[in-house]
Amino acid sequence: KASQGILTVRGGMTSHAAVVARGMGTCCVSGCGDIKMDEENKKFELAGKTFKEGDFISIDGSTGNIYDGIIPTVDATIAGEFGRIMGWADKYRVLKVRTNADTPTDAKKARELGAEGIGLCRTEHMFFEPSRIAAFREMICSDTVEEREAALAKIEPMQQADFEALYEALEGHPVTIRFLDPPLHEFVPTDEADIKALADAQGKPVETIKAIIASLHEFNPMMGHRGCRLAVTYPEIAKMQTRAVIKAAINVKKAHPDWTIVPEIMIPLVGEVKELKFVKDIVVAVADEEIAKAGADLKYEVGTMIEIPRAALTADEIAKEAEFFCFGTNDLTQMTYGFSRDDAGKFLNAYYDAKIFENDPFAKLDQVGVGKLMEMAIKLGKQTRPDMHVGICGEHGGDPTSVEFCHKLGLTYVSCSPFRVPIARLAAAQAALR
Ligand code: PEP
Ligand code: MG
Repeated sequence: KASQGILTVRGGMTSHAAVVARGMGTCCVSGCGDIKMDEENKKFELAGKTFKEGDFISIDGSTGNIYDGIIPTVDATIAGEFGRIMGWADKYRVLKVRTNADTPTDAKKARELGAEGIGLCRTEHMFFEPSRIAAFREMICSDTVEEREAALAKIEPMQQADFEALYEALEGHPVTIRFLDPPLHEFVPTDEADIKALADAQGKPVETIKAIIASLHEFNPMMGHRGCRLAVTYPEIAKMQTRAVIKAAINVKKAHPDWTIVPEIMIPLVGEVKELKFVKDIVVAVADEEIAKAGADLKYEVGTMIEIPRAALTADEIAKEAEFFCFGTNDLTQMTYGFSRDDAGKFLNAYYDAKIFENDPFAKLDQVGVGKLMEMAIKLGKQTRPDMHVGICGEHGGDPTSVEFCHKLGLTYVSCSPFRVPIARLAAAQAALR
């Protein structure tokens, strides 16, 4: 939040660091492996030059270019001729354009840029807030369900307030809330002082906390204990998130009876229908109980991300439980190619040099392979549930050629980070005209 721009040595185009920064509107170049970092002396070397703390560089998050010195920039606003072209685009496009936004500020920005809803709210970013991370760490390091529920109870009102603010910002436009996804090790403290604070808060020895942290280590966390697997092992998390979503929706609907508020709860990383059913049953039980308790009249939907190839292959089964699909093409690309989204940047240059690839498949959708899985999933899903809405919320949702492909597939919407909304609107119109 404090940074004007972010440049990292490790990672890639769709590392969570990069997508989060992009969502915040902060320019980020992730994975410049040529940098020789000298952290101790606060300097780095790149392209034969040494940059010290206090020196200026400019970065371009779209191309990944890094420039020596300051390049003057201006904020983009939709006005004048740009506004006129956007107006034309909206007249012709068929695809809806939503945004990936986790905070009311991002959501408002996206609305200004023309977003028609939230296609992805990554709820984990609400847990990273400094005022909440302590309670979340207590949840992770709990030994019993009771301990875990007590920690979650501290977070629930804050999460509910977040969702209320999002519904307010969207003024009755659709909001898809994705339940907790990242591996838990991303949340645990690494600093001795933070580990000690957590141990003190839980009345546990520092060594116990360190052992729990060590036990969370995974060799490939992006294919590890994350997504709906977290809800299967810790149903309390899904219960807390459901209560927060439903109570927020009831409150905002009460304040604005004329708004259409139908929460879309999205379960991530599903590969098997029984896995989705397990989580959905928890969500439905809790949601129905809250709605009955409040005497409210609220409809909601439970859907899933299609981001594991098996989910695409068995989409007819998955659609028996899922009321909507949204393609998570970051993970779908990772798992279809077997390329780690965090590490592929290391060898992709060799692929461009050898003319095996023309583009980064994490940036431009691979229409041949990943696209075939999407096409199959839509066909199979709609066999089971003909009127289901289907979107995309991977980074490809803001890339023009990928947007055109989504138009051809007949998707309902694309969802992208706020500042890419105008690009998606234009690309959707051009696709419709073509
Ligand atoms: C995806 O996988 O495409 C997605 C949108 O989810 P995330 O990037 O949070 O894994
Ligand atoms: Mg994903």
